Amino acid sequence: MLTALTKTGKMLCLGLNYRKETLMILRDKEEFICPICQETVILKLGDHRIFHFAHKQDSNCREFYERETYEHLEGKRQIFQWLTQQNIPCVLEYYDRTIQQRPDIMFKYKGQRFALEFQCSSLPDNVFRKRTSTYLENGYTPLWVMSSRHLHQRRNDLISLSDFHYSFLRSSSNGKLYIPAYCPKKQLFQLVESITPFSIKNSFAHLSGLSIQTAELTTILEPKNDHCVSQESWIREMEKYIFNWALHPKTEYRPFLQEVYNQGLNTFLLPPEIGLPVTHSVLIQTPPFIWQTYLFIDVLANKNPRELISLRDINSSYQKRVNRKQIILRDLPQIHNLNPIYAMIEYLQVLEKLNYLRKKGDMIFEVQKKILIPRSNREREEAKGIFLDQNKNIIFN
Ligand SMILES: [Zn+2]
Repeated sequence: MLTALTKTGKMLCLGLNYRKETLMILRDKEEFICPICQETVILKLGDHRIFHFAHKQDSNCREFYERETYEHLEGKRQIFQWLTQQNIPCVLEYYDRTIQQRPDIMFKYKGQRFALEFQCSSLPDNVFRKRTSTYLENGYTPLWVMSSRHLHQRRNDLISLSDFHYSFLRSSSNGKLYIPAYCPKKQLFQLVESITPFSIKNSFAHLSGLSIQTAELTTILEPKNDHCVSQESWIREMEKYIFNWALHPKTEYRPFLQEVYNQGLNTFLLPPEIGLPVTHSVLIQTPPFIWQTYLFIDVLANKNPRELISLRDINSSYQKRVNRKQIILRDLPQIHNLNPIYAMIEYLQVLEKLNYLRKKGDMIFEVQKKILIPRSNREREEAKGIFLDQNKNIIFN
Protein backbone atom coordinates (compact mmCIF):
# COMPACT_ATOMS: atom_id res chain seq x y z
CA MET A 1 0.00 0.00 0.00
CA LEU A 2 1.02 3.58 -0.59
CA THR A 3 -0.52 5.48 2.29
CA ALA A 4 0.01 5.29 6.04
CA LEU A 5 -0.51 7.47 9.08
CA THR A 6 2.17 8.76 11.40
CA LYS A 7 1.76 8.54 15.18
CA THR A 8 0.60 12.15 15.16
CA GLY A 9 -2.14 11.31 12.69
CA LYS A 10 -0.55 12.80 9.57
CA MET A 11 -1.03 10.99 6.29
CA LEU A 12 2.02 10.04 4.27
CA CYS A 13 1.09 9.33 0.68
CA LEU A 14 3.75 7.75 -1.49
CA GLY A 15 1.71 8.56 -4.57
CA LEU A 16 3.47 11.89 -4.46
CA ASN A 17 7.07 12.02 -5.63
CA TYR A 18 9.28 11.81 -2.57
CA ARG A 19 13.05 11.47 -2.79
CA LYS A 20 14.48 8.36 -1.22
CA GLU A 21 16.72 10.42 1.09
CA THR A 22 13.73 12.32 2.45
CA LEU A 23 11.85 9.11 3.12
CA MET A 24 14.89 7.57 4.81
CA ILE A 25 15.05 10.47 7.25
CA LEU A 26 11.31 10.19 7.88
CA ARG A 27 11.62 6.48 8.44
CA ASP A 28 14.26 7.01 11.10
CA LYS A 29 12.15 9.30 13.19
CA GLU A 30 8.53 8.25 12.53
CA GLU A 31 6.41 5.24 13.17
CA PHE A 32 3.83 4.41 10.50
CA ILE A 33 0.39 2.99 11.09
CA CYS A 34 -2.03 1.27 8.73
CA PRO A 35 -5.15 3.47 8.44
CA ILE A 36 -7.35 0.39 8.32
CA CYS A 37 -6.14 -1.91 11.12
CA GLN A 38 -4.01 0.61 13.06
CA GLU A 39 -1.09 -1.79 13.20
CA THR A 40 2.47 -0.64 12.64
CA VAL A 41 3.61 -0.90 9.05
CA ILE A 42 7.11 -0.80 7.58
CA LEU A 43 8.19 1.71 4.97
CA LYS A 44 10.00 -0.24 2.25
CA LEU A 45 12.52 1.71 0.23
CA GLY A 46 14.10 -0.95 -1.96
CA ASP A 47 15.76 -0.17 -5.25
CA HIS A 48 13.81 -2.69 -7.30
CA ARG A 49 10.31 -2.18 -6.11
CA ILE A 50 8.22 0.93 -5.88
CA PHE A 51 8.38 2.53 -2.38
CA HIS A 52 5.52 1.20 -0.31
CA PHE A 53 4.30 0.27 3.16
CA ALA A 54 4.11 -3.32 4.24
CA HIS A 55 2.40 -5.01 7.17
CA LYS A 56 4.41 -7.30 9.40
CA GLN A 57 4.44 -10.99 8.58
CA ASP A 58 1.90 -11.95 11.23
CA SER A 59 -0.62 -9.21 10.45
CA ASN A 60 -4.28 -10.03 10.17
CA CYS A 61 -5.15 -6.96 8.13
CA ARG A 62 -6.94 -7.73 4.89
CA GLU A 63 -4.51 -5.40 3.19
CA PHE A 64 -1.87 -7.95 3.98
CA TYR A 65 -3.62 -10.66 2.04
CA GLU A 66 -4.13 -8.64 -1.06
CA ARG A 67 -0.47 -8.94 -2.01
CA GLU A 68 -0.23 -6.00 -4.30
CA THR A 69 1.89 -6.42 -7.39
CA TYR A 70 4.31 -3.90 -8.76
CA GLU A 71 1.90 -3.30 -11.62
CA HIS A 72 -0.93 -2.44 -9.27
CA LEU A 73 1.10 -0.09 -7.09
CA GLU A 74 2.64 1.62 -10.08
CA GLY A 75 -0.68 1.88 -11.96
CA LYS A 76 -2.60 3.51 -9.14
CA ARG A 77 0.31 5.82 -8.40
CA GLN A 78 0.39 7.00 -12.03
CA ILE A 79 -3.35 7.47 -12.21
CA PHE A 80 -3.32 9.33 -8.88
CA GLN A 81 -0.62 11.71 -10.13
CA TRP A 82 -2.47 12.16 -13.38
CA LEU A 83 -5.62 13.24 -11.49
CA THR A 84 -3.60 15.50 -9.19
CA GLN A 85 -2.05 17.26 -12.17
CA GLN A 86 -5.53 18.03 -13.47
CA ASN A 87 -6.41 19.57 -10.09
CA ILE A 88 -9.04 16.96 -9.44
CA PRO A 89 -9.60 16.44 -5.71
CA CYS A 90 -8.50 12.85 -5.06
CA VAL A 91 -7.35 10.57 -2.27
CA LEU A 92 -5.13 7.57 -2.86
CA GLU A 93 -6.27 4.40 -1.06
CA TYR A 94 -9.23 6.15 0.47
CA TYR A 95 -10.65 4.00 3.23
CA ASP A 96 -14.37 4.39 3.77
CA ARG A 97 -14.93 2.99 7.24
CA THR A 98 -18.73 2.87 6.95
CA ILE A 99 -18.72 0.52 4.00
CA GLN A 100 -15.32 -0.97 4.84
CA GLN A 101 -14.18 -0.61 1.29
CA ARG A 102 -11.07 1.05 0.06
CA PRO A 103 -11.05 2.16 -3.56
CA ASP A 104 -7.58 2.63 -5.02
CA ILE A 105 -8.48 6.26 -5.60
CA MET A 106 -11.47 8.29 -4.55
CA PHE A 107 -11.96 11.45 -6.55
CA LYS A 108 -14.59 14.11 -7.01
CA TYR A 109 -15.55 15.34 -10.41
CA LYS A 110 -18.53 17.35 -11.65
CA GLY A 111 -20.46 16.81 -8.43
CA GLN A 112 -19.93 13.08 -8.43
CA ARG A 113 -17.85 11.01 -6.06
CA PHE A 114 -15.95 8.30 -7.91
CA ALA A 115 -14.45 5.08 -6.57
CA LEU A 116 -11.67 4.11 -8.94
CA GLU A 117 -10.41 0.55 -8.81
CA PHE A 118 -7.40 -0.39 -10.92
CA GLN A 119 -7.85 -4.12 -11.19
CA CYS A 120 -4.82 -6.21 -12.08
CA SER A 121 -5.69 -9.62 -10.66
CA SER A 122 -8.87 -11.39 -11.56
CA LEU A 123 -11.65 -11.05 -9.05
CA PRO A 124 -14.48 -13.52 -8.41
CA ASP A 125 -17.77 -12.38 -9.98
CA ASN A 126 -19.59 -12.17 -6.67
CA VAL A 127 -16.89 -9.99 -5.09
CA PHE A 128 -16.92 -7.68 -8.09
CA ARG A 129 -20.70 -7.40 -7.94
CA LYS A 130 -20.78 -6.86 -4.18
CA ARG A 131 -18.15 -4.11 -4.21
CA THR A 132 -19.84 -2.39 -7.11
CA SER A 133 -23.30 -2.45 -5.56
CA THR A 134 -21.93 -1.22 -2.22
CA TYR A 135 -20.35 1.73 -4.02
CA LEU A 136 -23.57 2.49 -5.85
CA GLU A 137 -25.71 2.24 -2.73
CA ASN A 138 -23.40 4.64 -0.90
CA GLY A 139 -23.26 7.44 -3.40
CA TYR A 140 -20.13 6.48 -5.30
CA THR A 141 -19.85 6.14 -9.05
CA PRO A 142 -17.68 3.07 -9.54
CA LEU A 143 -14.91 3.33 -12.12
CA TRP A 144 -13.31 -0.03 -12.63
CA VAL A 145 -10.20 0.16 -14.77
CA MET A 146 -8.78 -3.11 -15.97
CA SER A 147 -5.11 -3.81 -16.38
CA SER A 148 -4.41 -3.84 -20.13
CA ARG A 149 -2.70 -7.16 -19.58
CA HIS A 150 -6.14 -8.76 -19.59
CA LEU A 151 -7.07 -7.52 -23.06
CA HIS A 152 -6.82 -10.13 -25.77
CA GLN A 153 -7.11 -8.57 -29.15
CA ARG A 154 -7.55 -11.23 -31.80
CA ARG A 155 -7.13 -8.89 -34.68
CA ASN A 156 -7.21 -5.17 -35.23
CA ASP A 157 -10.98 -5.01 -34.95
CA LEU A 158 -11.69 -8.26 -33.08
CA ILE A 159 -11.42 -8.92 -29.39
CA SER A 160 -12.20 -11.78 -27.00
CA LEU A 161 -14.17 -10.73 -23.95
CA SER A 162 -15.05 -12.94 -20.99
CA ASP A 163 -17.56 -12.36 -18.19
CA PHE A 164 -14.69 -10.83 -16.21
CA HIS A 165 -14.07 -8.27 -18.97
CA TYR A 166 -17.76 -7.45 -19.19
CA SER A 167 -17.83 -6.61 -15.46
CA PHE A 168 -15.80 -3.54 -16.41
CA LEU A 169 -18.36 -2.39 -18.97
CA ARG A 170 -19.58 1.07 -18.08
CA SER A 171 -21.71 3.73 -19.65
CA SER A 172 -20.73 7.30 -20.47
CA SER A 173 -23.30 9.94 -19.61
CA ASN A 174 -24.54 9.89 -23.20
CA GLY A 175 -24.98 6.13 -23.17
CA LYS A 176 -21.82 4.88 -24.89
CA LEU A 177 -20.83 1.49 -23.51
CA TYR A 178 -17.11 0.82 -23.16
CA ILE A 179 -14.43 -0.89 -21.09
CA PRO A 180 -11.58 1.24 -19.70
CA ALA A 181 -8.12 -0.29 -19.28
CA TYR A 182 -4.71 1.02 -18.31
CA CYS A 183 -1.14 -0.09 -18.88
CA PRO A 184 1.41 1.36 -16.36
CA LYS A 185 4.34 0.17 -18.45
CA LYS A 186 3.24 2.05 -21.58
CA GLN A 187 1.53 4.74 -19.50
CA LEU A 188 -1.45 4.31 -21.73
CA PHE A 189 -5.19 4.20 -21.22
CA GLN A 190 -6.98 1.86 -23.55
CA LEU A 191 -10.70 2.05 -24.19
CA VAL A 192 -12.57 -0.84 -25.73
CA GLU A 193 -15.33 0.97 -27.60
CA SER A 194 -18.19 0.14 -29.95
CA ILE A 195 -18.33 -3.43 -28.69
CA THR A 196 -20.45 -5.49 -31.07
CA PRO A 197 -20.43 -9.17 -30.16
CA PHE A 198 -21.11 -11.89 -32.73
CA SER A 199 -20.63 -14.79 -30.32
CA ILE A 200 -20.59 -15.23 -26.54
CA LYS A 201 -16.86 -14.47 -26.37
CA ASN A 202 -15.91 -12.74 -29.59
CA SER A 203 -16.72 -9.24 -30.53
CA PHE A 204 -15.97 -6.52 -32.98
CA ALA A 205 -14.62 -3.52 -31.11
CA HIS A 206 -12.42 -0.50 -31.47
CA LEU A 207 -9.43 -0.17 -29.16
CA SER A 208 -8.41 3.46 -28.57
CA GLY A 209 -5.07 4.27 -26.96
CA LEU A 210 -4.73 7.48 -24.95
CA SER A 211 -1.38 8.46 -23.46
CA ILE A 212 -1.61 9.50 -19.83
CA GLN A 213 0.60 12.44 -20.75
CA THR A 214 -2.10 14.02 -22.88
CA ALA A 215 -5.39 12.34 -21.94
CA GLU A 216 -7.83 14.21 -19.75
CA LEU A 217 -10.26 12.65 -17.30
CA THR A 218 -13.21 13.66 -19.48
CA THR A 219 -11.93 11.60 -22.40
CA ILE A 220 -11.77 8.54 -20.18
CA LEU A 221 -15.22 9.11 -18.68
CA GLU A 222 -16.91 10.31 -21.84
CA PRO A 223 -15.62 8.63 -24.99
CA LYS A 224 -17.54 10.16 -27.86
CA ASN A 225 -16.69 8.30 -31.02
CA ASP A 226 -18.64 5.59 -32.76
CA HIS A 227 -16.57 3.16 -34.70
CA CYS A 228 -18.54 1.13 -37.16
CA VAL A 229 -18.00 -2.46 -38.10
CA SER A 230 -16.97 -3.07 -41.67
CA GLN A 231 -19.74 -4.82 -43.54
CA GLU A 232 -17.40 -7.31 -45.20
CA SER A 233 -15.69 -8.27 -41.93
CA TRP A 234 -18.97 -8.63 -40.11
CA ILE A 235 -20.56 -10.88 -42.73
CA ARG A 236 -17.39 -12.95 -43.05
CA GLU A 237 -16.93 -13.52 -39.31
CA MET A 238 -20.62 -14.12 -38.78
CA GLU A 239 -20.75 -16.75 -41.52
CA LYS A 240 -17.64 -18.46 -40.26
CA TYR A 241 -19.02 -18.46 -36.75
CA ILE A 242 -22.48 -19.78 -37.66
CA PHE A 243 -20.94 -22.44 -39.88
CA ASN A 244 -18.66 -23.75 -37.14
CA TRP A 245 -21.39 -23.44 -34.58
CA ALA A 246 -23.81 -25.48 -36.68
CA LEU A 247 -21.20 -28.15 -37.38
CA HIS A 248 -20.66 -28.79 -33.67
CA PRO A 249 -23.70 -27.51 -31.80
CA LYS A 250 -23.53 -27.78 -28.04
CA THR A 251 -26.20 -29.78 -26.22
CA GLU A 252 -27.73 -26.70 -24.59
CA TYR A 253 -28.69 -25.46 -28.07
CA ARG A 254 -30.76 -28.54 -28.93
CA PRO A 255 -34.08 -26.79 -28.27
CA PHE A 256 -32.99 -23.99 -30.57
CA LEU A 257 -32.07 -26.39 -33.36
CA GLN A 258 -35.30 -28.30 -32.88
CA GLU A 259 -37.32 -25.14 -33.16
CA VAL A 260 -35.38 -23.94 -36.18
CA TYR A 261 -36.04 -27.31 -37.80
CA ASN A 262 -39.75 -27.21 -36.94
CA GLN A 263 -40.01 -23.83 -38.60
CA GLY A 264 -38.56 -25.23 -41.81
CA LEU A 265 -35.37 -23.27 -41.25
CA ASN A 266 -31.81 -24.47 -41.42
CA THR A 267 -28.87 -22.88 -39.62
CA PHE A 268 -26.74 -23.32 -42.76
CA LEU A 269 -29.35 -21.48 -44.79
CA LEU A 270 -30.30 -18.49 -42.69
CA PRO A 271 -31.20 -15.37 -44.66
CA PRO A 272 -28.63 -12.54 -44.53
CA GLU A 273 -31.16 -10.47 -42.57
CA ILE A 274 -30.68 -12.69 -39.51
CA GLY A 275 -27.49 -12.03 -37.55
CA LEU A 276 -27.07 -8.27 -37.90
CA PRO A 277 -25.11 -5.94 -35.63
CA VAL A 278 -27.05 -3.64 -33.28
CA THR A 279 -25.67 -1.35 -30.60
CA HIS A 280 -27.25 -2.87 -27.52
CA SER A 281 -26.65 -6.52 -28.42
CA VAL A 282 -23.82 -6.26 -25.92
CA LEU A 283 -26.47 -6.58 -23.19
CA ILE A 284 -27.35 -10.07 -24.41
CA GLN A 285 -24.94 -12.95 -24.00
CA THR A 286 -26.72 -15.24 -26.46
CA PRO A 287 -25.19 -14.77 -29.94
CA PRO A 288 -27.17 -12.28 -32.07
CA PHE A 289 -28.00 -14.80 -34.80
CA ILE A 290 -29.78 -16.92 -32.18
CA TRP A 291 -31.83 -14.21 -30.51
CA GLN A 292 -32.64 -12.70 -33.89
CA THR A 293 -33.80 -16.11 -35.11
CA TYR A 294 -36.09 -16.38 -32.07
CA LEU A 295 -37.45 -12.92 -32.73
CA PHE A 296 -37.95 -13.85 -36.36
CA ILE A 297 -39.85 -17.01 -35.37
CA ASP A 298 -41.94 -15.25 -32.71
CA VAL A 299 -42.92 -11.98 -34.34
CA LEU A 300 -41.98 -11.96 -38.02
CA ALA A 301 -42.28 -15.37 -39.67
CA ASN A 302 -46.05 -15.65 -39.50
CA LYS A 303 -46.89 -12.08 -40.37
CA ASN A 304 -48.03 -11.07 -43.83
CA PRO A 305 -47.57 -7.66 -45.43
CA ARG A 306 -49.73 -4.96 -43.78
CA GLU A 307 -49.97 -6.84 -40.51
CA LEU A 308 -48.70 -5.04 -37.42
CA ILE A 309 -45.99 -5.76 -34.88
CA SER A 310 -46.26 -3.97 -31.54
CA LEU A 311 -43.96 -3.52 -28.59
CA ARG A 312 -46.16 -6.01 -26.77
CA ASP A 313 -45.31 -8.70 -29.36
CA ILE A 314 -41.61 -8.00 -28.96
CA ASN A 315 -41.87 -7.97 -25.19
CA SER A 316 -43.79 -11.23 -24.94
CA SER A 317 -41.25 -12.96 -27.20
CA TYR A 318 -38.42 -11.51 -25.13
CA GLN A 319 -39.97 -12.52 -21.78
CA LYS A 320 -40.77 -16.02 -22.98
CA ARG A 321 -37.26 -16.66 -24.31
CA VAL A 322 -35.56 -15.20 -21.26
CA ASN A 323 -37.77 -17.20 -18.88
CA ARG A 324 -36.95 -20.38 -20.75
CA LYS A 325 -33.26 -19.43 -20.63
CA GLN A 326 -33.11 -19.60 -24.41
CA ILE A 327 -31.90 -16.04 -24.33
CA ILE A 328 -29.28 -15.36 -21.66
CA LEU A 329 -28.63 -11.80 -20.59
CA ARG A 330 -25.20 -10.57 -19.62
CA ASP A 331 -24.45 -9.90 -15.99
CA LEU A 332 -23.20 -6.31 -16.05
CA PRO A 333 -22.72 -4.97 -12.51
CA GLN A 334 -22.08 -1.38 -13.60
CA ILE A 335 -24.95 -1.11 -16.07
CA HIS A 336 -28.42 -0.39 -14.85
CA ASN A 337 -31.44 1.29 -16.41
CA LEU A 338 -30.66 -0.36 -19.73
CA ASN A 339 -33.21 -2.90 -20.87
CA PRO A 340 -31.83 -5.62 -23.19
CA ILE A 341 -35.07 -5.40 -25.13
CA TYR A 342 -33.50 -2.27 -26.69
CA ALA A 343 -31.39 -4.60 -28.80
CA MET A 344 -34.52 -6.19 -30.22
CA ILE A 345 -36.17 -2.88 -30.94
CA GLU A 346 -32.96 -1.75 -32.66
CA TYR A 347 -33.03 -4.90 -34.75
CA LEU A 348 -36.57 -4.13 -35.91
CA GLN A 349 -35.41 -0.60 -36.66
CA VAL A 350 -32.72 -2.06 -38.90
CA LEU A 351 -35.38 -4.12 -40.67
CA GLU A 352 -37.33 -0.90 -41.06
CA LYS A 353 -34.33 0.69 -42.77
CA LEU A 354 -34.14 -2.37 -45.00
CA ASN A 355 -37.79 -1.79 -45.95
CA TYR A 356 -39.13 -4.99 -44.42
CA LEU A 357 -41.04 -2.95 -41.88
CA ARG A 358 -42.54 0.49 -41.74
CA LYS A 359 -43.00 2.54 -38.63
CA LYS A 360 -46.66 3.11 -37.84
CA GLY A 361 -46.44 5.20 -34.71
CA ASP A 362 -44.67 4.72 -31.45
CA MET A 363 -43.25 1.20 -31.36
CA ILE A 364 -45.64 -0.15 -33.93
CA PHE A 365 -44.30 -1.56 -37.15
CA GLU A 366 -46.21 -2.62 -40.23
CA VAL A 367 -44.84 -5.53 -42.23
CA GLN A 368 -43.98 -4.46 -45.78
CA LYS A 369 -42.57 -7.68 -47.20
CA LYS A 370 -41.52 -11.05 -45.91
CA ILE A 371 -37.94 -12.07 -45.34
CA LEU A 372 -37.28 -14.83 -47.86
CA ILE A 373 -35.78 -18.03 -46.55
CA PRO A 374 -33.20 -19.50 -48.93
CA ARG A 375 -33.80 -23.14 -49.85
CA SER A 376 -30.36 -23.92 -51.18
CA ASN A 377 -26.82 -22.69 -50.90
CA ARG A 378 -27.10 -21.11 -54.31
CA GLU A 379 -30.20 -19.16 -53.27
CA ARG A 380 -28.46 -18.10 -50.10
CA GLU A 381 -25.40 -16.83 -51.95
CA GLU A 382 -27.62 -14.93 -54.37
CA ALA A 383 -29.62 -13.38 -51.56
CA LYS A 384 -26.43 -12.40 -49.79
CA GLY A 385 -25.01 -10.78 -52.92
CA ILE A 386 -28.13 -8.66 -53.37
CA PHE A 387 -28.27 -7.85 -49.68
CA LEU A 388 -24.65 -6.66 -49.57
CA ASP A 389 -25.06 -4.62 -52.71
CA GLN A 390 -28.25 -2.86 -51.73
CA ASN A 391 -27.56 -2.23 -48.09
CA LYS A 392 -23.98 -1.10 -48.02
CA ASN A 393 -24.62 2.17 -46.32
CA ILE A 394 -27.70 1.27 -44.36
CA ILE A 395 -26.51 -0.90 -41.50
CA PHE A 396 -22.77 -0.37 -41.49
CA ASN A 397 -22.25 3.35 -41.34
ZN1 LIG B 1 -3.64 -2.88 8.06
